[in-house]
Amino acid sequence: MSQEQTQAQGQAHGQAHGQAQAHGKAHDQPQAHVQTRLVHAGSPELKNGAGPVNVPVVRTSTVRFADTAAQAALNKLRAAGDRVATYGRHGLDTHQALEEAVASLEGGHRTVLAPSGLSAITLVLLATLAPGDHALVADSVYSPVRKVDKSLLQRYGVQVEYFSPSQDTLESLIRPNTRLLYLESPSSLLFEVLDLPALAATARRHGVLVAADNTWSGGLYYQPLALGANLSIQAATKYLAGHSDVMMGVVTVDSAELARKIGVTYDALGLSVGADDAYLTLRGLRTLDVRLARHQTNALAVAEYLAGHGDVAQVFYPALPQDPGHALWRRDFSGASGLVSFAFGNADPAAASRFIDALRYFSIGASWGGYESLALEAAPERLAEHSVWQQGAGKPSVVRLHIGLEHPQDLIGDLERAFSVTRDALRRSA
Ligand SMILES: *Cc1c(COP(=O)(O)O)cnc(C)c1O
Repeated sequence: MSQEQTQAQGQAHGQAHGQAQAHGKAHDQPQAHVQTRLVHAGSPELKNGAGPVNVPVVRTSTVRFADTAAQAALNKLRAAGDRVATYGRHGLDTHQALEEAVASLEGGHRTVLAPSGLSAITLVLLATLAPGDHALVADSVYSPVRKVDKSLLQRYGVQVEYFSPSQDTLESLIRPNTRLLYLESPSSLLFEVLDLPALAATARRHGVLVAADNTWSGGLYYQPLALGANLSIQAATKYLAGHSDVMMGVVTVDSAELARKIGVTYDALGLSVGADDAYLTLRGLRTLDVRLARHQTNALAVAEYLAGHGDVAQVFYPALPQDPGHALWRRDFSGASGLVSFAFGNADPAAASRFIDALRYFSIGASWGGYESLALEAAPERLAEHSVWQQGAGKPSVVRLHIGLEHPQDLIGDLERAFSVTRDALRRSA
């Protein structure tokens, strides 16, 4: 038997025994703290007594087989749901290392990569819903979910119903054909904290799958799977990659059955993720803990500053004691990330754009989660989708800030100046 053949069969054997044995040993120990697992999960095994710290970037389209028997064995394992690559689209070592690290972070059975956060969401919706099914979606979710509904799910006979996670009684909305409960906590734009354990318990009682978008916490400060969700989704574009240079999505599932379902849909959609992007995301993940800690410190300082500012009507940041979601956040989360929104006291619709244009250190842009600070006006039509916003009196403009890793005093100084520029401009135009 040639050396190549031995390796191919050895590899097939290792993969048959699941992910945990495919790479290094350190992350096999579930008792290790998350900081330790972030550093070690998915590390490459040493070969012949030595090897690099980082997993190599393994790019390929074709996967070569030692012989037809090895090919048949690997195809069989893949068909049975094992994490085996028989073609480039399936992703090789780099992809697998990232999958293992995210699965460890999220506390899941398996992670699947997707080319973007939104494609990860679409993958979950298409894998779990079929014509005639009904899905319940919290009305405060990342807005493009509604586009997936309108442009895709409706055409395929799936009915999506939006509900208010704080006002509606979930139990009364569940129908015999309800298959999926889709949540995001804290929500996009206003960071409404949901009672995920209670919602998930109700859904599970009725045999309804629960999916949660966990992008806000980076998977570090919130564990939707431990709190009752079956699927946890992240736009890895944000905190996991963390440097504003990658588009990536991840889906982590709690069972082999869901892994198989997601895998089948993934293959049918012909999805594929580049090895370089998988590498960059894994590199970002290694420093997730230290980056998020600084995002949190800085964001809390900014949120407290905003809360004390006379031109601000309301600050949305669950780590602030006065935030309506604070008690739930304290119960279910172990930290807060860098997103802070605030509503202006002045109802002039020009307030947000004047304010944002006056900022120096905050770039104007979406897709937060990198090291840099960003500012964006929350579009009124998107805010109007959220029941928590509809209840509020008046409709001042809202600015969403992503607080980066700059020194917080420089950021607060920048905000202070922008407030005074805005006040002067609004007074002159009044
Ligand atoms: C950005 C974002 C997404 C989409 O991620 P992309 O990688 O930009 O496609 C999904 N969910 C949430 C909460 C997001 O903020």
